[in-house]
Amino acid sequence: MEPVKNPIKNSEKNSEKNSAEKTMKIDLTTVLNGRADRIIFDKSFDAKESEGYCMFPDGIDITSPVRVVGEVTDKNGCMFLNARVSVSYHTLCDRCLADIDRTFSFDFERMILPEEDAAARGGGLDDARGDSDDSDDSIEEILYVKESGVFPEESIIEDAALEIPPYHLCRDDCAGLCPRCGKNLNDGACGCGEKKEIHPELKKLQKLLDNFE
Ligand SMILES: [Zn+2]
Ligand SMILES: [Zn+2]
Repeated sequence: MEPVKNPIKNSEKNSEKNSAEKTMKIDLTTVLNGRADRIIFDKSFDAKESEGYCMFPDGIDITSPVRVVGEVTDKNGCMFLNARVSVSYHTLCDRCLADIDRTFSFDFERMILPEEDAAARGGGLDDARGDSDDSDDSIEEILYVKESGVFPEESIIEDAALEIPPYHLCRDDCAGLCPRCGKNLNDGACGCGEKKEIHPELKKLQKLLDNFE
């Protein structure tokens, strides 16, 4: 810990900094007070700092801040958030274990409702904001206004964990590793026995055997 020269100023600084880094807030003040009907934003947040990070499948490492670019529009009092989310990740090829670094993108859309609506939906604010496991699906498509803004981070992470591709290959025709000797067959045949010169007449049989395995 560094010595604190001006404790009040320092704690103010820290609380500001923490909220900016850890939580992505989209400020809706201008829309809420009627001065604008559109807010354009370009933000990013550190997924690893988010509670939902564990929802990503094993072996997926999010390598840079999740970027969220979009807008909030207000149409006659109905607010909608539309954004494009980009997530960069590192993983290993499912066949040959080569390093893979990729980015995937998806659309993120939510309706935004005033804070008081959360209470009106029964159960009060705490229920609506708490674990969404037992709440109905429609609630997950809604963001509620809080502190004159919305905090879509957790919903974005939930969607990202579902959107991430289920398979990862370094390339479509990745040859994988030899099941016997473990050599990376993308670098050429391993010569450990499986790929010996085969008499043309036996090739069909070899194919059958390969399929059988
Ligand atoms: Zn591969
Ligand atoms: Zn081999």
